[in-house]
Formats: sequence, C-alpha cells, structure tokens
Amino acid sequence: MYEYDRLFIGGEWVAPASPQTINVVCASTEERIGVVPKGIRADADAAVAAARLAFDDPSGWAHWPAQQRAAAMFRLADAIEARSAEFTHRVSSQNGMPVRIGRQTEGAQPAMLLRYYADLSADLPAEETRQSLVSGSTVVRKEPVGVVAAIVPWNFPQSLTMFKLAPALAAGCTVVLKPSSETVLDAFLLAEAVKEADLPPGLVNVVTGSGRDVGAHLVSHPDVDKVAFTGSTEAGRTIAEQCGRLLKPVTLELGGKSAGILLDDVDLSCTMKAMFGATLLNNGQTCFISTRILAPRTRYPEVVDAFSAMAAALPVGNALEERTLIGPVATPQQRDTVEAYIAKGKAEGGRITAGGGRPPHLTRGWFIEPTVFADVDNDTTIAREEIFGPVLTVIPYTDDAEAVRIANDSAYGLGGTVWTADPERGLDIARRVHTGSVGVNGFTLDPGSPFGGVKASGLGRELGPEGLAAYQQLKSVYLPSSGAGVPQERSPR
Ligand code: NAD
Repeated sequence: MYEYDRLFIGGEWVAPASPQTINVVCASTEERIGVVPKGIRADADAAVAAARLAFDDPSGWAHWPAQQRAAAMFRLADAIEARSAEFTHRVSSQNGMPVRIGRQTEGAQPAMLLRYYADLSADLPAEETRQSLVSGSTVVRKEPVGVVAAIVPWNFPQSLTMFKLAPALAAGCTVVLKPSSETVLDAFLLAEAVKEADLPPGLVNVVTGSGRDVGAHLVSHPDVDKVAFTGSTEAGRTIAEQCGRLLKPVTLELGGKSAGILLDDVDLSCTMKAMFGATLLNNGQTCFISTRILAPRTRYPEVVDAFSAMAAALPVGNALEERTLIGPVATPQQRDTVEAYIAKGKAEGGRITAGGGRPPHLTRGWFIEPTVFADVDNDTTIAREEIFGPVLTVIPYTDDAEAVRIANDSAYGLGGTVWTADPERGLDIARRVHTGSVGVNGFTLDPGSPFGGVKASGLGRELGPEGLAAYQQLKSVYLPSSGAGVPQERSPR
C-alpha cells in the first residue's frame, strides 16, 4: 500500500489544503493499492506561486547557463533511472499496462528524454546575431516561455509527462505537473526523484486533483504562461478555447483513429508480430495506434483471419505478469465505454471474428478480450470514434487511391502505418496520408523527431528540437548602426 499525505510544492512535501484523498486501485485486481491527497484549487495556487517564484528569480533556473541546467537534468535522469523498476511497477499496477511494455515506455524512456533534451539545449546557442536587412545587426534570443502547466492522462503517464517536462526544463521554464487521478503514484515517485536530484525549489511541482477542476484552474491561472496538454479531444477543445481567449500558448496532443494500410503485396507471415505493437499496444489505450485496418479486397478474408488469429493468441492477464501482452483497461468506466462500442459495432452489422467479451478465466480486473470486427465500413461508429480499448476493425478497399482516401476520411490525424514488401511504395503512400506521423512496416516513435497530430488530434508538436522550441519565446534585439533610426534633422528650405 502506497501512502502519501503531502503534495510536492516548492521543493518540499507540504500539507494539502483539503483533507480529501484519492484512492488508487489496481486495474488487474481491483484492490486498493494507494492513497494520496486530493489537491484542490488552493494547492494549485500554491504550486503556481512556487513555480512563478522560481521562474522570476533573477539568478534562478531561467538564467542559468544551459550547461548548468543540463548537469541538473542529468542528475534528475540518474535519480529517475535508479527508480526505473518502481516506475514500471506503479504504472502497470495502476493502469494495466503490461510490464513488458511499461519497462520501456515508463521505466527507460523518461531518463532518456531528459538526457536528450539536456544535451540538445547545451549544444544549441540561445542567441544568434543576424545582419539586419535595414541597419546594423539583430540579436535573436530564445527565451523560456515561463511557468508551464503540464496536464497528462493515465495511459502513458511518465513518458507523456517527460514529453513536456524535459523540453520545458531544458528551455529554462518551471513546471506544475497535474497527473490524472488514476495514475498519481508514479507522479509522487517522480517528485521523490526531483527531491533527491536537488533541483531548485519550485522548479517542478506536483499537484493532484480529480475530475477536471484543478486542471481547468491551472489552464486559466494568470501566472501560468503556457499549457501543455495530452488527453481527450473533448478536453483539448475546452482547453484550446480557454487558451485562445487568454492568448496563452498551448500544445495539445489529443485522440486518434489511425489507419493501418496493408498494401496488396504485404507478407502477413512477417508482419503480424510488428502488427501487435502498431495496433494493440497498451491494451489499445494508445493514442497513435492503427485501429482501422485497411485490407485489399482481394486479400480481405486472409487479413481478417490473420488478425483474428493474432488477437486470439495474445496472452491476456495481470499486467504485472511477464507473459502478459494484453492487460486490463484502466478503469471500470473505460471498460463500460469499450463494451458499449462493441455492442454498437454488432448493432451496426459488424461481424466479430475474435474476442468480443470478457475473458472467462479472469474474474477480477477490468479485462476485455482483444476483439476484431470484420465486414465493417469506414462509416460505422467503431471506425470513426476512438474506442481506447483492444478493438480493431478490418475495412476493405479496392486500390491504393481508395486506401489513402479511407485513411484520410477521419476526424483525426495522429498516427498510421503502411505495410508492404516494397518500402519505397510504402513511403509513397505514407506521404499521402494526412496525419502527424506514419510508420512503414512498424511504428516506433522517435523521440528525436516531432510528434503530434492534425485535425482533431491536436495542435503543435512534442519531441525533437521542435518540442524544445514549444517552450521558447523569440525576442529580437535590434542594434542599428550608429545614427540609424534617429530622425535626421531636416535641412532648412
Ligand atoms: P482526459 O482528457 O479526460 O484527461 C486528461 C487529463 O486532463 C487529466 O489529467 C484530466 O484531469 C485533465 N483534464 C480533463 N479535462 C480538463 C479540462 N477541461 N481542463 C484541464 N484539464 C482537464 O483524457 P484521459 O481519459 O485521461 O486520456 C485518454 C485520452 O487521451 C484519449 O482520448 C487519448 O487518445 C488521449 N491521448 C492522446 C495522446 C497524444 O499524444 N495525442 C497520448 C495519450 C492519450
């Protein structure tokens, strides 16, 4: 049982403003595994004040040389890495992510991202001098945007936190982190690592909350200079509206309904292993996965059989067991949602070829069998809406042009994949898919390159040098040559 009775604000463990608590429940067993304070607006105010103070300190983090910041970020990376197994354990217990996946995304990736951004910012000059087009020169400065509210969901809580925290710290910003109430225990572990790494007080603050109240308060807080959000499209729209009104910079990583296009030359015997990660990663609770499988009509029965066989063979079980590839979904509400989509798929004429129910051997935990729907077209609800569970639809197409048209016929545009024996042909199709990222014969997210969505999948990009730029403001300092810019005395007529 994990028990915390304080929040991490201003570099200290401080008493929360309210006696209310959040109970944390294991998705695989339904047992209570932790209790933490439930933050309220007053806690968010205290966290923002601490972050503000740290940012405004004239000799503080924002003004440290990049190399000095990088050294501190390396210390934090070491402290996180020392807790890698515990991060994996906590995340998998809370949200049902199989440990085999969590070890990479939640255990290893956060420290890697911190080191990447520490190195990147230490190498990139903060100022550049340009020859002015008019007179003298101009110094173009990259300055930190300020206090950042980082609001993250429960599906990949640590890696999605670090998509924000690492570039924000590298840029010189200070951060208030608001985790989802389902995944708070890993956020408290992160706070412990921050404390051990001896970062300046107020640089990283963690405030909990349940529902949207604390997050919404942070978004509208006058002392928050930028919002970095990952979560549902619905919440993203609300946050975008608020930030638009306040003219506050915002990055939004939202939902997806990506297409996996199997070209007619695909070798299914080689492809199915990689397909698992590209379509069902983290029990289907991954924003970028290809949940619409587009199959050539000539090979439709073969593709349906291959996916059905893959789904039926996946080991479903407790997320903490090494053999598990499909764990439970994160919450009972999420299971209700997924089951409602399965019922809708059936009602709309879809034919279930694998799964479709709860695994009979698992009586505790929020499990759903990996499920495949055939005989579905792209207009059905299960092909249009994000399900966020282990449910795939296989949709037929006639030729490459139709495959691209169906892939692009979506409100979303986050990920996608193309599967083919000819990678050049795959690249050509990938260029035509209207989305933020596409994989050819696999989908391995590259932290050195930008990631994000188009359409209802979001605004802006995280990761890569572009992800650092999202935490910087540009300032031009004009240095006209002497005399220029000064009004000339008029000669007397
Ligand atoms: P959610 O939008 O309900 O909540 C995400 C976070 O935002 C939580 O911390 C929540 O408390 C907070 N929040 C909710 N409403 C808010 C508001 N109006 N103002 C401020 N904060 C608010 O999402 P979820 O159910 O936790 O996560 C699942 C969703 O996240 C899925 O739609 C998924 O596709 C999306 N997601 C997207 C990406 C991506 O990179 N594009 C990655 C992971 C998850």
